[in-house]
Amino acid sequence: MPELPEVENTRRNLVRAGLPGSTITGANITWANTVKKPSAAELAEGLKGRTIQDIERQGKYLILPLSGSGPTNFIIHLGMTGRLQVQPQSQEPDPMTRHSFPLEDGPELRFVDGRKFGKLWLVDSPTEVLPTMSPEPFEDEFTVETLAESFSGRKAPVKALLLEQSTVCGLGNLYADESLFLAGLHPERPASDLSIDEVATLRQAIIDALSAAYGVYDRARDQLWPDPPTALTTWSHPRDIKAACPNCETSMTAIRVQARGTYFCSKCQV
Ligand SMILES: [Zn+2]
Repeated sequence: MPELPEVENTRRNLVRAGLPGSTITGANITWANTVKKPSAAELAEGLKGRTIQDIERQGKYLILPLSGSGPTNFIIHLGMTGRLQVQPQSQEPDPMTRHSFPLEDGPELRFVDGRKFGKLWLVDSPTEVLPTMSPEPFEDEFTVETLAESFSGRKAPVKALLLEQSTVCGLGNLYADESLFLAGLHPERPASDLSIDEVATLRQAIIDALSAAYGVYDRARDQLWPDPPTALTTWSHPRDIKAACPNCETSMTAIRVQARGTYFCSKCQV
């Protein structure tokens, strides 16, 4: 499942591929259920001749503002396995390509989506689509105070709260575990029991975990362009009970928190 680093990596890949400034000349939608609003036919018609002005991201939604008349925002959610590629139309598409959007001057934007959980919208405003989201880790609003406030009075395991998008936007299972590993916090600690210093450490660990992940993708994009990777291991703790903690060599422990596989070091994380 793509998490924030994968979606941001996709955004950066598309920028590097020159998608901003490109004009869409058509749309081949082969799985109409992906289109949530308007109808698949209306979306295909509405995209024709529109120029992509930018590629923005809010949470795990990619937002492509369009020039010209008609609904001004083409919004894409990658779902469970979705990938976006800009490739020459002459290049053989991935067999899981569900939708393609030919661009002026030759290339094509392709939406590869094996499990078909991706979603597309063409709307006037992102507010018609996007849920209300809490601050993202890199936003100024993500402070020690707001994080402490969201933990206040909550006895649920800290990991469970990190997965709630009302606490911090965009953290999924892997980066919740990585953040707790970097912060040295046990994933089952009741959130309200964390001291303000521990909350501050956790906030920084969340930022560090995502920064490191973005860095891994940025380096891989530079090295492997024009075929940038879409899924890499970008976390430092092993997700394997047969593997040792890189800090203390204790075997990693696996538990489930809210039915999600959770890996931690029983010695380093207290
Ligand atoms: Zn350890």
